[in-house]
Amino acid sequence: MTTKSPEATTGQKLIQGVTGPWEIVIGLEVHAQVSSNSKLFSGAATEFGAAPNSQVSLVDAAMPGMLPVINKYCVEQAVRTGLGLEAQINNYSVFDRKNYFYPDLPQGYQISQYLQPIVGEGTVLLDMPDGKTVEIGIERLHLEQDAGKSIHDMHPQHSLVDLNRSGVALMEIVSKPDIRSSEEAGLYVTKLRSILRYLGTCDGNMEQGSMRADVNVSVRRPGEELGTRCEIKNMNSIRFIRAAIEYEARRQVDVIEEGGTITQETLLYDTANGVTRSMRSKEEAHDYRYFPDPDLLPLELDQSWVDEIRLSLPELPDQKKKRFIDDLGLSPYDASVLVADRERAAYFETVAEGRDGKLASNWVTSDLFGALKKSNLDVTESPVSAEALGRLIDLISDNTISGKIAKQVFEIMFAEGGEAADIVEARGLRQVTDSGAIEAVVDDIIAANPEKAAEVATKPKALGWFVGQVMKATQGKANPQAVNEILKKKLGG
Ligand code: ADP
Ligand code: MG
Repeated sequence: MTTKSPEATTGQKLIQGVTGPWEIVIGLEVHAQVSSNSKLFSGAATEFGAAPNSQVSLVDAAMPGMLPVINKYCVEQAVRTGLGLEAQINNYSVFDRKNYFYPDLPQGYQISQYLQPIVGEGTVLLDMPDGKTVEIGIERLHLEQDAGKSIHDMHPQHSLVDLNRSGVALMEIVSKPDIRSSEEAGLYVTKLRSILRYLGTCDGNMEQGSMRADVNVSVRRPGEELGTRCEIKNMNSIRFIRAAIEYEARRQVDVIEEGGTITQETLLYDTANGVTRSMRSKEEAHDYRYFPDPDLLPLELDQSWVDEIRLSLPELPDQKKKRFIDDLGLSPYDASVLVADRERAAYFETVAEGRDGKLASNWVTSDLFGALKKSNLDVTESPVSAEALGRLIDLISDNTISGKIAKQVFEIMFAEGGEAADIVEARGLRQVTDSGAIEAVVDDIIAANPEKAAEVATKPKALGWFVGQVMKATQGKANPQAVNEILKKKLGG
């Protein structure tokens, strides 16, 4: 099999060529770290990047006789997330021990939830680039502990272990096998991350590992039963998730088309070579000898507490998107671009306040986002505040400047700061609407170009040339509408 770079294996075109009559079936298990200052069953801190083993309590190090105590805040975040995913909240859930040995797991088991998770079925809607929506089912969300981290590259003879992450609260969010392409998988992770960030329950920082996904992939001919799946572990980049799916689907199709069968296994994605590699054969649930943790009582939630959390939820991306479409007249695509990020949506709302929604959306999505992207800045770091951009748009609406001049003013504001009105005054950019002044320029240009002027009667397009000349002579400051009217009056056309 040839080796492909990740770039070479990404993209919709290739996938169709590769899989032909095959359908790809994908289900994701996303581990989202709860944004909490302390761990799921201990009071130790969870700060990212702290010195190794500086955030480890006796519970996290599994000292004999230590007892876990549930962190109510983490439970609340799981419920909040469940509500945000429009999922069933289970008021009775159970913590189980998932038993396995690993040097970064001092307890010899992970406390997780197996048969009775805190959250049941829910949904995530994907915003497709063509404006359509695709619904992906959520199977469950459960709370569990993270493991520590083995370090193999700091000492020539020994492997070291850092237990800072040991015991940190994770929400494992399991999708149904409803995802049908690498593109949908990428959009699913993006949307889930957006919802978690709106809710404030996980920072969604994939580079720091606060959000990572196990990607289950199988292939089948459309209409057939689900095929055997392979699970690619621990992916923390959307780009690699997509590339890994493309590679893995192709590998499976090749095996089947050559008469072989897929064996269920656990894989790792080799990012350097763009290939999946076998890590181990798949373990079954019974291998883990799950049983209810005798140190912990079942978790029982008061319905009134759940209701209170529901009332405290912010407006979520799907609701915001609907409001932007219904109330502000935005297209589904523009609306989904604007709501994807909470801060961007807030910026836009400030700009749109009391102004034309579409005009505000155009300025924010193309001019502002374009400039931010070029400068590699986040919207919270924008040199032009939402209020200042709003006031610039007002100058267009009240005819002080043309849309074209406004772009120049925006560039100046972005590069040098300042207030739109001041820049317009200081640089004399005010639009000329005075018809006398415009007429004088028009007359000069007509007098200098008699043959062109004669053309207008037979070639209405020649009028455009005159408009261009007048705008040039006035450095873009003449009101285009007035210029057109005066030219038509003088030349016909
Ligand atoms: P485990 O925890 O053993 O990996 P689960 O039953 O919890 O198993 O399923 C894990 C994930 O695998 C889910 O996201 C599910 O949607 C997905 N999945 C199950 N069957 C398939 C399949 N045939 N093809 C692709 N994904 C699948
Ligand atoms: Mg799994």
